[in-house]
Amino acid sequence: MNSAINKITKFIMLEAERGFDDRAVVGGLGNMLAPWKAEAETQGLPEDLIATVESRLQDYHRLSPGSRSEVLKGLWNRLQSIETALEPWTFNTPEMDSDIEKTLIEKETSLPAVEHEPPSPSSSETDPAVDEPGIKDDREESATSSRPLPEGDEEDEQALEKTPEAAQPATPSEPPAALKAPLTTVQGIGPKSAKTLEKLDMRTLGDLLWHLPRRYDDYSQLETINRLWYGQEVTVIGTVEKVELREVRSGRMKLTEAMISDGTGSLRITWFNQPWIANRLKPGQPLVLSGKVDQYLGRLTMSNPEWEPLEQRQLHTNRIVPVYPLTAGISGKWLRRVIHSVVQRLALRVPDPLPENLRSSADLMPLGQAIIQVHFPDSWEQLRKAQHRLAFDEMFMLQLGVLRQKRAWEAVEGVALETEDAWSAGFTANLPYALTQAQKRAFDDIRADLASTVPMNRLLQGDVGSGKTVVAAAAIGMAGAHQAQSAFMAPTSILADQHYQTLLELLPSATDIPAEAIKLLIGATPESEKESIREGLQSGEIRVVVGTHALIEDPVVFQQLGLVIIDEQHRFGVEQRAALRQKGDNPNLLVMTATPIPRSLALTVYGDLDLSVLDEIPPGRQAIETRVLLPKERSRAYSFIHGQLEKGQQAFVIYPLVEGSEKVQAKAAVDEQAVLQEQVFPGHTVGLLHGRMKPDEKDQTMQQFRNNEIEVLVSTSVVEVGVDIPNATVMMIEGANHFGLAQLHQFRGRVGRGEAKSYCLLVPDQDSDADNQRLKAMQSTNDGFKLAEMDLDQRGPGDFLGTRQSGFAELKTAQLTDVKLIEKARREANRMFDVDPDLSQAEHALLAEELTRFWTIEKGEMS
Ligand code: ADP
Ligand code: MG
Repeated sequence: MNSAINKITKFIMLEAERGFDDRAVVGGLGNMLAPWKAEAETQGLPEDLIATVESRLQDYHRLSPGSRSEVLKGLWNRLQSIETALEPWTFNTPEMDSDIEKTLIEKETSLPAVEHEPPSPSSSETDPAVDEPGIKDDREESATSSRPLPEGDEEDEQALEKTPEAAQPATPSEPPAALKAPLTTVQGIGPKSAKTLEKLDMRTLGDLLWHLPRRYDDYSQLETINRLWYGQEVTVIGTVEKVELREVRSGRMKLTEAMISDGTGSLRITWFNQPWIANRLKPGQPLVLSGKVDQYLGRLTMSNPEWEPLEQRQLHTNRIVPVYPLTAGISGKWLRRVIHSVVQRLALRVPDPLPENLRSSADLMPLGQAIIQVHFPDSWEQLRKAQHRLAFDEMFMLQLGVLRQKRAWEAVEGVALETEDAWSAGFTANLPYALTQAQKRAFDDIRADLASTVPMNRLLQGDVGSGKTVVAAAAIGMAGAHQAQSAFMAPTSILADQHYQTLLELLPSATDIPAEAIKLLIGATPESEKESIREGLQSGEIRVVVGTHALIEDPVVFQQLGLVIIDEQHRFGVEQRAALRQKGDNPNLLVMTATPIPRSLALTVYGDLDLSVLDEIPPGRQAIETRVLLPKERSRAYSFIHGQLEKGQQAFVIYPLVEGSEKVQAKAAVDEQAVLQEQVFPGHTVGLLHGRMKPDEKDQTMQQFRNNEIEVLVSTSVVEVGVDIPNATVMMIEGANHFGLAQLHQFRGRVGRGEAKSYCLLVPDQDSDADNQRLKAMQSTNDGFKLAEMDLDQRGPGDFLGTRQSGFAELKTAQLTDVKLIEKARREANRMFDVDPDLSQAEHALLAEELTRFWTIEKGEMS
């Protein structure tokens, strides 16, 4: 096999084995793309294959495990078509992957050299633990490193870490030092295994405790052999009748076959490629076996069941068995045993940061018990309670963090900017249109916020086209009525300019702010102009400045900054918000987003903000017709666009995809523009917009598009937010399968802004049922909220959070979709702060510490 292909297939198998957690490669699959591509190119792999791999894996980290499985499946099939040695895809989705292990065991032969080779039959005679290769090797290491071998080493629990700290009784307020002890202090883990475990981010005993199972197999149902049925997950106790080792597939595979009987019947058991098992089993030996009942030639069998001798305390069978994320060189059984020993030793000694009264009022399991139950549950009920406790802790920390922030902001008084009813009436009367009910509500919210000395902290959320800008203009007007200055920040210069134009239209006629007092400050603004803006802002002569992040970077000083508005909040980090805020004396803050954030997310990620929602589209808009096309139907899309151009309308073509390398995107867009201009629309002007263009080039292009000098605009996702071109009626999106629904909805919102009927054409770059199904949702609804909820379910929160807040996506057990949990955590967090605002009480000391640690780590991930 070609080595680049070999590599990619290994990654796929590892990912499948690990339940698609994007950890098969350190830092995620995306990290290996560049080196892999280089290698594939030098080996002369077909270009289209390389491109496929790249496009599939580029945003792999943003997908849910289910979609990841789909993506890898597609890739696997593609690879199979050129590499006949590959078996057809048999990996299953993570939720139903009882077959995965079987497949992987069969595939193990082609995996990278396993760190611990199964021992040879002869050694097994002397070592009863030989099917735990990790343990065996390390025992040899430990024997040479003068650590005494435990007695009766069948069970290594008794021989756990021997650090002096671990021997001391734990005081409740102080975590036992053993939690920080390196993995090698566990008997059975040598430097080699420790290094392998490091790949799973485990370095200390504490990390082992937090290496949570990715699923559980229920082998708690004991059954007699005569009552088994096909497909059942079950535990059987029986005696070994006979064992044999056979070679199948002309020696390529070893098959251990055993007959087990329990007096009610007998059952054939097979294990693939685990020849050492044949040496461990002796006729007459009682065994516990757990697995799924299978069928072979009409008779019931079990393939690759978990098993252990009957006299052992049952860890792998006859219970709800944890299944852990693994990596090459570690067996599930071995890891289960290691974790069990550490959990036994340490779980109950992990101090619980939640005070007793909170635990009982919120009905939460003690932490130590939760750790035990989440690894080795006594029942599904106990497992559920344990998971609830762990998830609560994470959500509680999140809520404590955002609420502390909110309280801190609100603690410092600002200036009250009260407006009269007459002012409101005058403002609305002078607008070119009547406000929608939703806009009026938001207007009132803001008016009340500004009238109070508690600074405003509000999120204005509204679907594309819901009319957020005029609400922002109202806020600016209210501040302006008190001579307070406003700063309005947008993520791109195109948008900043658009807002600037809108404000010029609205403010001078509806407020006492004249056009000369409104300025635009972006990167491209000439230095002399910037200088005069700085002067005007300092003197107070300029009352409104609209800009990009140049506003933050510029050393502008305001005379009295009373209001900060940030558009498309998700494009900015918390730090940027804070930086702009700092330019004033605790100014009011209004952040706006068109991303329809599901309520649960708004409560967590934006939990420090109050919320106004524009859930109404201004009257007179036409619904946009959306179509999902197959890649081969592209020419239909082109002739449709032709028709629209002939009618004098304009079109967007978004190309091609995803985040990541702006350079790759730009190149794709450049190529596409050339093709469209020369071959598809030779009689029309095709323009180009991408993120690597200079700001003034972008502005110029946008201006030309606005003036209809450009009729078709090819663009990367820079055009995503807020641009308003009423004459454009077609939004065609290439590679639509790479985008989340919420993002597609944003693109779609660029059209349908004028009189004429508008269309959105989605063209995926591959013909996949799963993708098409997902995209069809765009045809059936125009409701951004619904689409966002679907995204959250299908793709996880990454799409909403942007890279800066991805720390939130790292939650281990809590679901950002679990509204009940979020509300409970928020309630308890508020209650906590009511009682002890700075967490200074002794019983909250541990909690305070934990909170600092949690947010430090989160922040590290955010930057
Ligand atoms: P978004 O919420 O996407 O930022 P905009 O503020 O850009 O929306 O408004 C979209 C369009 O709707 C603009 O052309 C604006 O003039 C128009 N608009 C806003 N509010 C109303 C209204 N109440 N009635 C009619 N048109 C409105
Ligand atoms: Mg907008």
